Order: sequence, then C-alpha cells, then structure tokens
Amino acid sequence: MNVLVINAGSSSLKYQLLNPATGALLAKGLCERIGIDGKFTYKPEGKQAIKEADVAMPTHSEAIQAVLNALVDKDNGVIGSMKEIDAVGHRVVHGGEAFASSVVITDEVMKAIEECNPLAPLHNPANIIGIKACQSLMPGVPMVAVFDTAFHQTMPPVAYTYALPYEYYEKDKVRRYGFHGTSHKYVAGRAAEMLGKDIKDLKLISCPLGNGSSVTAIDGGKSVDTSMGFTPLAGVPMGTRSGDLDAGILEYLMGRYNMDIKEMVSILNKKSGVFGVSGVSSDFRDLENAGAEGNKRADLAVDMFNYGVKKLIGSYAAAMGGVDAIIFTAGVGENSASQRLAITSDLEFMGVKMDAEANKVRGEERVISAADSRVKVLLIPTNEELMIALDTAALVK
Ligand code: ADP
Repeated sequence: MNVLVINAGSSSLKYQLLNPATGALLAKGLCERIGIDGKFTYKPEGKQAIKEADVAMPTHSEAIQAVLNALVDKDNGVIGSMKEIDAVGHRVVHGGEAFASSVVITDEVMKAIEECNPLAPLHNPANIIGIKACQSLMPGVPMVAVFDTAFHQTMPPVAYTYALPYEYYEKDKVRRYGFHGTSHKYVAGRAAEMLGKDIKDLKLISCPLGNGSSVTAIDGGKSVDTSMGFTPLAGVPMGTRSGDLDAGILEYLMGRYNMDIKEMVSILNKKSGVFGVSGVSSDFRDLENAGAEGNKRADLAVDMFNYGVKKLIGSYAAAMGGVDAIIFTAGVGENSASQRLAITSDLEFMGVKMDAEANKVRGEERVISAADSRVKVLLIPTNEELMIALDTAALVK
C-alpha cells in the first residue's frame, strides 16, 4: 500500500509518497510560490532531486497535478500509475474539540474542519484547499485528515482550562489545544519500542525542539499536558515566538509605542524568541557561532531557551508523579548535543544522568543517558509524514 502525504500551506505544499507497512519513502518534494511563479522540487528516493522554476501553479490544483505527473513520470517516476496511490493523508493543523484522532474525510468531516477555521485562520483554510484539490484530481481515492491538535485532546480540564471567565471557554472555545501532536505521538510510540515496554506503562516527556518547540507530558500513551496553548505562541521561547509571557506587558508596550494589537502580536510571533533576545538570528546554529565569538546576548537567548525546556521537564515530572524517559527530537533536539546536555544538567536529583559520549550524536535513534540513569534520555528523529501515513493506512484498510 502507498500513501501520499500532503501538507498544504497557503503558498506551499510539501508531499511524500510512503509505504506505511515498510516505512519506505518512495519520493518527496515541495511546491513553493503557488499563485506566484511556481517552484517545484521532486526527489525520487535514491536519485538526484529535480528542481524546476517557473512551473505554472496558479492554484494548489496545478501544484498537486505536477506532483502526480512526477510520481508516474516514465523516467523519474516511482509508480506505474495513479492506481498505485491507495490513499492520501492530509496534515490539518486544527481539529478543535471535534477531533480526538485522525479521521476519514467525508462531507461532514469537511464541514467540521471548516468550523475550526477561526481557531487557525492562517492554516486550516490552506489545508482545506489542499484536500479539495486532491479530491477533484483523485476521485475515489480515500483521504484521511491527521490533526496537529488531536493527540492532545486527552488532556484533563485542569491542564487545558485557562483561568479566564469560564464563558470564554464555553462560548468561544478558548482553551489549551496544543500542537505538534503527530510528532509527539510518533516519538512516544518509538520510545516504547526502544525501551521494550508497553506504552501504557510509561510516563514520557517529549521535547520536539526546533524553530517551533513544545514539550508534552505523555502518561500511558496519552497527552496529559503540553506547553503550546490556544495557539502555538505559548510555552518556551522559540525561534521568533515569545513563548509564555505576562499579558500585562501587552498593554504597557502598546500604550508606550501606540501600537495596535495586530502589530503587537506580530512582534510576539515574528520578532521575539531567541531572535528577539539575541538580535542575531532565529537559527540556533547562528546563535552558537555568535556565542562562540563572544556575543553575550546570543548566549543569553540559548540559555533562556534551555532553561525554559528544563523547567517544563521538571513541572511535567511533577504533574505525572514521575517520568520514565525524556525524548529529544526535531532540529535542535536531534542535532545539538550541547543543548541536550544543558537542558538535562542538574536533573540528577530526579534520576537523570546523561552519558556525554553517547550524547555526541546527530539524528540517530539512541539512548543518550548513562546505563544507571533511572530516567532514560532518548534521541529519536521525528517522522511526522510516516505517522500520517500510518494513521491513514490504519483508517482506510
Ligand atoms: P521547525 O520547527 O521549523 O520544523 P526544525 O525542527 O527544522 O524547525 O528545527 C530548526 C532548528 O534546528 C534551527 O534553529 C536550526 O538551527 C536547528 N538546528 C539544526 N541543526 C542544528 C545543529 N547542528 N545544532 C543546533 N541547532 C541545529
């Protein structure tokens, strides 16, 4: 069985063709500048990537058609015909409280996803455009929606309720939703396999750390708390997002600089985080280099990020009454040995002891804690596309 995984944004679309049974990747790529001047990238597994500029892509439909053409192409294709695409898995950002798991897309499901649009006005409409384009180009092929938020629907009210007037939850759906769910679910499953334990018996803290970062407490395979909130702006400081902050600051700054709320929120999303503090970059590699050259604010930004993750690990261990394993994944989590060490330093009191040698690794599934560490620390490369393909295959079988 082959599953086409689609992650549609407003002007871009990422895709992968996978065999979920074996985990084999057949091809992947990216359509960019949809509606502008169409850039197309296609990489069949084991072969050179093909890049084309100025591909006519006025809408997502032409972009997906270009993907399908490439997949069945005589010379560089990976399948004989479209019949070899058994299902399509779509990443959808927000499923609100309507979706606690992935779901086969029907007309009713489409309506329910559209009802979640106000919760993710930049993302859900683009996801929907991608689904509709696939439906018209691939009639009869089953499609599945996999939500970033669904995994966190198991959180109890004590974790998801904001201390605001309760009617904002009841009437306006303001609550913690959490994001990165596909990634948290994937690494939690892998962690159970690596530890040779039933996931139901494990307390895990998963940390996908990258440009966007979130930390999740997973008890018995279920998300019980997570650092992102109503939007992905919450939690630890990120590349350019502030993470948690005192809402009183908004009124103070908006008054001093005569800003409206749009300008303020744009600063919180795009000019804050490690970029804002360092004034150097949102990229942790640049910060590491700047720090090595003596830039104190770059060091401060990285230290604040690491400290933020460490504090969440401590609080989630408290929330779950213990922790069996801490998982690092995504750009920073998979690559930065120094940040993994900094985050886990001084946690010996709660049973975390790193193996500095084992930690000198990138992007490889591995235990990086010492043999006698009570809490295991795991490096697990994330694979959201495979998780989407697995969920899709399980639902359409
Ligand atoms: P996104 O949240 O956009 O998916 P990624 O998971 O791709 O982000 O992570 C991107 C981040 O990972 C960047 O800040 C990048 O600098 C960081 N990163 C990648 N490689 C390294 C490395 N070797 N050391 C430190 N950070 C790294």
